[in-house]
This record gives sequence, structure tokens and C-alpha cells, in this order.
Amino acid sequence: MEKREMLYEGKAKRVYATENPEILLVDYKDDATAFNGLKKGSIAGKGAINNRVTNFMMRLLEQKGVPTHYVEELSERETLVKKVQIVPLEVIIRNISAGSFAKHYGVEEGIVFDAPTIEFSYKNDELGDPLLNEYHALALKLATKEEIDTIKRYAFKVNEVMKEFFKGIGVDLVDFKLEFGRLSDGTIVLADEISPDTCRFWDSVTHEKLDKDRFRRDLGNVEGAYQEMMRRILGE
Ligand code: ADP
Ligand code: UDP
Repeated sequence: MEKREMLYEGKAKRVYATENPEILLVDYKDDATAFNGLKKGSIAGKGAINNRVTNFMMRLLEQKGVPTHYVEELSERETLVKKVQIVPLEVIIRNISAGSFAKHYGVEEGIVFDAPTIEFSYKNDELGDPLLNEYHALALKLATKEEIDTIKRYAFKVNEVMKEFFKGIGVDLVDFKLEFGRLSDGTIVLADEISPDTCRFWDSVTHEKLDKDRFRRDLGNVEGAYQEMMRRILGE
């Protein structure tokens, strides 16, 4: 499949057209940003790791019955995906308190929840991705009730599949962000990425952070943490 014009350059990926109007090519960059773009940097090798890790997770989820945008890994950093209209919601699932949850509610990080939580934020960089609930999403016509129900069902299913998988490689899945999109016929599928940029991963034994928090919080050995996650996930 031929790489044609660049349609969009985001913070972590570039998106290209292909000769098939239903298929896009995603190219992962090493650029890293945090705090709504205020902190900028680069993580050597991140693009290749996030590409391979995302594709591994997408294939696993498809096998477990979650439809995704994944089509084919083309190279270290490039993947073909089904073109979707992104539902402008960031869907966040949490199993353990951390990050903005700990901050908002004034609790320590590391509290293991009895049941996972779900929250949505409005994917809008200018507004700083504000939190909203289902009623707000409906009022803003970001998605229909049926779409939101489907998204919630898939998001919790993704959590069950991922929690079990990561347990098997000695990692606690703390929280993560998902994005969903609509295919041309309206079908909802999982899109975007699942990587150490978009998930919090803690080593089950040492509780060492193995994700983007090492970059956000200047903890050092950012590259090493990404490589370690890739090694464990891909079994290399
Ligand atoms: P951001 O836009 O947040 O800076 P990225 O650098 O990751 O993020 O850019 C990738 C963009 O592509 C995101 O806006 C994401 O929502 C979008 N995207 C992901 N998967 C698809 C897809 N299958 N079809 C269309 N757009 C997608
Ligand atoms: N997350 C993300 N993109 C965002 C916001 C959050 O991928 O724009 C992920 C983040 O990596 C973490 C989870 O969603 O795994 C929950 O993030 P949180 O709300 O705690 O925000 P943060 O602490 O990152 O500001």
C-alpha cells in the first residue's frame, strides 16, 4: 500500500492517506509531550516500541472479540489502519489510584479499587481535554446513547483482557486511555494506540513505574522502561 499525502501531524504520530480511501497509514514518532503539550521532549526508540506494542495489543483484543482499526504492521514505525471518524472522547479506565485521580480526590497513589472506574474527557486540545460525563457527551452530540453504551462495554472488556495479560508478565495495569472511532458504516471500533504513552504500568513486585510517568516526572531511564515493557510484551 502506497504512502500518499500527510493528512495530520499529531503529538506522537503522523497520519497519511493511502490509495485506498478506507485505509490510513500511521507513522509513530519519538516525540513526547506531557501536560497538554507544555512539556516537550524525545524518547529514543519510542515510536518503534509504541507501534509494535500497540499492534500486539490490537491483535490480542481482536482475538478476544473487541473490534479494532488494526490492519497490518508495515515496518518498525508504520502501520495500516482502517480509517475512522474519531469519537472525540478520551475513555479512561482505572484499576488503581494514580495521576489526576489521586490529585482530584486527594488520595495517595496505589489504592487498588474493588471495581474499575470509567471516565470520559472531551478530546479538545484548546479546552485542555475537560472531563465530562455521558449526559454532557450526549448534550454536546459527541456520540449517541447506543455508541456510548458500546464504547463502555468494549472499554471494560479491554480492561479485563489487558489486566489478565499484564498480570502474566509481572505488570500491574494501573490505568489507561482509549479512543474509539466509527467506520464508514457507523460500526464502533477501538482506534488510536495502546502503549506506555497511554497506559500506566507498574512492576508487580517492585512497583517500579514502566511508562510515560518516567518522562512526565523526570524519573530517569525513560528509554529503559519502554524497552523493558516491549521486551516483556513481545517476549523478546
Ligand atoms: P494527538 O492528536 O493527540 O496529538 P497523535 O499524535 O497520536 O495524537 O495523532 C494521531 C491522531 O490520529 C489522533 O488525533 C487520533 O485520534 C487519530 N486516529 C487514531 N486512529 C485513527 C484512525 N483509525 N482513523 C483516523 N484517525 C485516527
Ligand atoms: N492519558 C493519555 N492521554 C491523555 C490523558 C491521559 O494517554 O491525554 C492516559 C495516561 O497515560 C494514564 C491515564 O490516561 O495512563 C490516566 O491519566 P490521568 O487522568 O491520571 O492524567 P495524567 O496524570 O496523565 O495527567
